[in-house]
Amino acid sequence: MLALLGVMFAAMWLWKTNAESTTETPIPYSTFFNWAKEGKIESVVLDGEGLNGKLKGPETVNGKSIKSFHSNLAPNDLNLLPILHEKEVRIEVKSQQQPFGVQVLMTLLPWVLIIGVWVWMSRRAKGMLGAGGPFGAFMGNKGRKFDKATSVQVTFEDVAGSKAAKADLWEIVEFLKEPERFRRLGGKVPRGVLLVGPPGTGKTLLARAVAGESGVPFYSISASEFIEMFVGLGAARVRDLFKEAKKNAPAIVFIDEIDAVGRARGAGLGAGHDEREQTLNQLLSEMDGFERNDLVVVIAATNRPDVLDPALLRPGRFDRRVLVDRPELAARKAILTVHSKGMPLAPDVNLQHVAENTVGFSGADLANLVNEAALSATRQGRDNIIAENFSEAFDKIVLGDPRDTKLDAKEKNRVAIHESGHALVARFSSETDPPNRVSIIPRGMALGVTQQSPSIDRHIMAQGELEARLRVLMAGYAAERLVLGSISTGAENDLKEATRLATHMVAHYGMSPRLGPVYYDHDAEHAFLGQRIATESGTSPTTISVIEEEARQILGRALSEATNVITEQRGQFDLLVASLLEHESLEREDLAKIFEPPSVP
Ligand code: ADP
Ligand code: MG
Ligand code: ZN
Repeated sequence: MLALLGVMFAAMWLWKTNAESTTETPIPYSTFFNWAKEGKIESVVLDGEGLNGKLKGPETVNGKSIKSFHSNLAPNDLNLLPILHEKEVRIEVKSQQQPFGVQVLMTLLPWVLIIGVWVWMSRRAKGMLGAGGPFGAFMGNKGRKFDKATSVQVTFEDVAGSKAAKADLWEIVEFLKEPERFRRLGGKVPRGVLLVGPPGTGKTLLARAVAGESGVPFYSISASEFIEMFVGLGAARVRDLFKEAKKNAPAIVFIDEIDAVGRARGAGLGAGHDEREQTLNQLLSEMDGFERNDLVVVIAATNRPDVLDPALLRPGRFDRRVLVDRPELAARKAILTVHSKGMPLAPDVNLQHVAENTVGFSGADLANLVNEAALSATRQGRDNIIAENFSEAFDKIVLGDPRDTKLDAKEKNRVAIHESGHALVARFSSETDPPNRVSIIPRGMALGVTQQSPSIDRHIMAQGELEARLRVLMAGYAAERLVLGSISTGAENDLKEATRLATHMVAHYGMSPRLGPVYYDHDAEHAFLGQRIATESGTSPTTISVIEEEARQILGRALSEATNVITEQRGQFDLLVASLLEHESLEREDLAKIFEPPSVP
């Protein structure tokens, strides 16, 4: 496009300079002819239609004294030339045609433009479709429709932990490797496997590993790509994908993020989701169309199994589910080991400790952690990675990058009070983890942070623990209100989290005596919009307002409990604030020195 513009500019510039030559005073032809006869003209330049001339001396035209002029020529005035010759006027003749270069340009320009726009449009269309675009076939340029890997190098060894998932998938590997033997032993031919788990837990990795282990071709496509395509293309692609896979069977077809097309049909609001439904229907009919002997296994991955169309889960389709969960301690250590393989770790790095401190991290988070630690070591110019690099990487992932923001003294004081509130209440509440670190150094989105790190994997939380969590969450707000006598914007995120938690306690966990043991779907995500629609689920407005009242009561209770703790432990609270203002960041050991041993609750 840029080159094209350049050509246009050049052409316009040439044309302009060409047209600029006639700015002389125009005079009638008769005046010119008379001047010529009177011998007043020194020279003329003829250019086909007109002429520019120079006078020997100034002449007055319309009260203006001029020395040069322009005049049109009378057609075929045969008298003019002899007179000019006679009077010895210097005559110059310019071609009336434009320079050759300009002529060529002028002829070509429209074509260049048309072809340019055409190429540009077809490229754009191709980008949009990934399938050659409307001009794709015409231009003999077929785009790739899906990813194909004839041999995948990933094996189960690259997937750390996930023992149960690997055991489930091993059956698929055996089937693809030796289908005859598998059938002889009476195995039921697997068709579709749905990998279910939170983002970053290694679903895509596992699917690739199945292909790697069984040594069959791997056809993959991400369902989210279908959504942005023109109607009909998604279905066509699914058809091609299965055709190709069947031709090269045994093979694996992998559909990543299947929830993008597999959401329950009819869930969309209004029209315009034909594409998704057509693609889904095509997928279903392809899976039904498998012959008994087709050696194609379809693996799909999702983190939203709840929104999938029930038709997808029927027998013969994705009737096997493999759960891929967040890694627990041992798995986290294994993942860290896999990803730090070949990296120079200093002796002070203890992957067991790192694993203990990364409760809730997914496999992808852990891979990222190792990578960030290596980057941090590189930045410091080290030739090995030390423990400090790991804690820096951890902070970066959990808290975000340090900010340049400088708090003024007043703000700093408020943040210190707020964070001390969280830390103190965490310290003096039973059923919650003690504070691990308090800091008033702005990082990421937060101005300050109080970290409590759970040291073990939690699977359920008791009511008392949730209440303690609420108390800790409300403690920043409570401290500001109690000590400074005013509230600031700093508590927004705390209140948001606390409100969400309290609402869940009431509506989902049956923890409100007034509502009893009921699950209200009042804030379920809408299946298609992916956002909350309060009344959509059929919970009555009355119930919703009771839920809100109950949640508010729970929050009020947590706030007053937090305030009580701060009032009772005011001495230690003030110590903590002072120490925080001085050091800005307090680690576990510093905190242990400030807090007296707890009085037995
Ligand atoms: P998902 O598809 O579940 O969102 P991915 O398979 O894309 O997750 O995982 C992202 C990355 O995280 C992988 O490429 C890998 O580096 C890392 N990872 C996740 N789980 C594991 C695991 N169990 N073992 C090793 N690496 C893992
Ligand atoms: Mg994935
Ligand atoms: Zn807070």
